[in-house]
Amino acid sequence: MSGELKSITTFSEPQPVMHCKHGLCPELYTSWETDNPGRRFLRCQMWQRGDCGFCQWFDPEIVGRPKELINRLRSQKKALENRLKSQEAEHRVISTRACELEQKLIDANAKIKSLSIMNDVLTQKLKVVTDEQLRVITIYWNL
Ligand SMILES: [Zn+2]
Repeated sequence: MSGELKSITTFSEPQPVMHCKHGLCPELYTSWETDNPGRRFLRCQMWQRGDCGFCQWFDPEIVGRPKELINRLRSQKKALENRLKSQEAEHRVISTRACELEQKLIDANAKIKSLSIMNDVLTQKLKVVTDEQLRVITIYWNL
């Protein structure tokens, strides 16, 4: 019974009266292997660090259509999770690109503002030069 294991012990579950070789109450897990999908079993709570070997089915074997349906739904769930992961990765790429574009827009707006100020300064200088040229022309014209 390797594979995906998850403890689902709750207060509403019937409590086992048996003990493993460690003298501990076994914990209730759920098998998600295709041979026994959703079937619960009792196992030594030390199974990951000094397993005494206690392992016993808690539920009767699931057979036929229910077993097929559980496996099909688990397969569909896995496919949806993979699709979600893929979409999350795509979303991260798009978000990163949007941040880069937003920064470029901020930079472009700063350049536009800077060029606008420079344009105002140059326009003012051109006006001064033009006024000076007109003054000189007027002086020569009146000579
Ligand atoms: Zn044990």
